[in-house]
Amino acid sequence: MEYSGDEFDVIVVGAGVMGSSTAYQLAKRGQKTLLVEQFDFLHHRGSSHGESRTIRATYPEDYYHDMVMESSLLWEEAQQQIGYKVYFKAQHLDMGPSDNNSLLSVVASCKKNGLPHQILEPLQVAEKFTGRFNIPETWVGVSSGLGGVIKPTKAVSMFQTLAFQEGVTLRDNMEVKNIVKDEVKGGVVVVTTNGDKFWGKKCVVTAGAWMRKLVKTISGLELPIQPSEVMVCYWRIKEGHEAEFAMGGDFPTFANYGDPYIYGTPSLEFPGLIKIAVHGGRPCDPDKRPWGSGVNMESLKQWIKSIFKGLVDFNAPVSTQLCMYSMTPDEDFVIDFLGGEFGKDVVIGGGFSGHGFKMAPVVGRILADLVLIGEARGVELKYFRIGRFEDNPRGNVKDYGDQVKFLNESLKS
Ligand SMILES: Cc1cc2nc3c(=O)[nH]c(=O)nc-3n(C[C@H](O)[C@H](O)[C@H](O)COP(=O)(O)OP(=O)(O)OC[C@H]3O[C@@H](n4cnc5c(N)ncnc54)[C@H](O)[C@@H]3O)c2cc1C
Repeated sequence: MEYSGDEFDVIVVGAGVMGSSTAYQLAKRGQKTLLVEQFDFLHHRGSSHGESRTIRATYPEDYYHDMVMESSLLWEEAQQQIGYKVYFKAQHLDMGPSDNNSLLSVVASCKKNGLPHQILEPLQVAEKFTGRFNIPETWVGVSSGLGGVIKPTKAVSMFQTLAFQEGVTLRDNMEVKNIVKDEVKGGVVVVTTNGDKFWGKKCVVTAGAWMRKLVKTISGLELPIQPSEVMVCYWRIKEGHEAEFAMGGDFPTFANYGDPYIYGTPSLEFPGLIKIAVHGGRPCDPDKRPWGSGVNMESLKQWIKSIFKGLVDFNAPVSTQLCMYSMTPDEDFVIDFLGGEFGKDVVIGGGFSGHGFKMAPVVGRILADLVLIGEARGVELKYFRIGRFEDNPRGNVKDYGDQVKFLNESLKS
């Protein structure tokens, strides 16, 4: 196939946080890299814009622990290189019913991985956070040191700037229509809707909520990645108490295990407001979005009312923001070779299921490893392979039984 004459070692499609971090990793390794984005850079129609994302090391699934630890170091490295801050450290608090299997698995995973943590009775939670969290008697809190907030738009901009400084070619407002094999020369040709064709030895696709559509066009493969519109809510802190919830003090990032899963961050981006949101939203086509709330606001309000006991105004959020998730059935990432006729020439990274941002530096490193050397060190990719859905349409089996058993044993001893 003829192309425009521009040749690259690697073409990265999609300039959200994953594509931008990958392009930076590739260029650091001396690869001539092109980063292509369908909309404006730093647009608000995908998943990587906004004011805050939580980073936490506590995961019910063991296999995310090492990834978060590496990512945390890479965030620090990148912000040191750029010279401004995108990563604000805090403590982290998980909470929920003491028989919640996911929460018990979090504890088990902390123990297995040697992650320092404290298991707290409800009164101890109230004591540690001086009455700001009031959890029910039947709940438990798990406090850990590695939490914090990453500033998403600023972080994507940081990776794009670093990538540019390393020599990456950046092109926005350029929708990739297809990726085809170059049968003559080898490699791939990336075709855009405005008629450009770029040749790449290899390609990485990080198309976020558009992943299913694009991969279907490229290879016919139907990935089980469901785009979903979600809403972030900011709530007003009662006058006089703002400092108690502010970043930089002892107020933690937090997560509530249960139905719904609720999470929040210390007050940072909007003084006097705190972000408290529900993990989950409304499935949709990313090109025909509802642009509206899919959140069950009533349960969120009740949660805020009971946990913060009047310190946060639960009547209505004062500000909201919309964003896209890309959900897989097991909520684990999809990081793999596209395979088929593309073999190992095209690598995909998607399905980040609402918890990918913190991992962007390590995901960028892994995608760069895969596309350049065909394997990624220090990560068990079986959890992220496309093939898991062929074995089981629901993907990875989340049976926390063993973890919970391990925990019960260790609590008894
Ligand atoms: C409200 C909200 C809260 C979240 N909270 C957290 C959190 O607390 N902690 C955490 O770790 N994670 C969190 N996440 C998840 C995290 O933000 C995402 O996992 C991450 O941003 C995904 O990045 P991405 O690069 O895969 O997708 P995107 O940012 O959407 O980037 C994909 C890009 O590809 C482009 N693209 C698509 N198709 C094409 C094409 N054909 N041609 C060219 N370009 C194309 C898109 O325009 C887009 O810019 C949250 C997400 C949301 C929405």
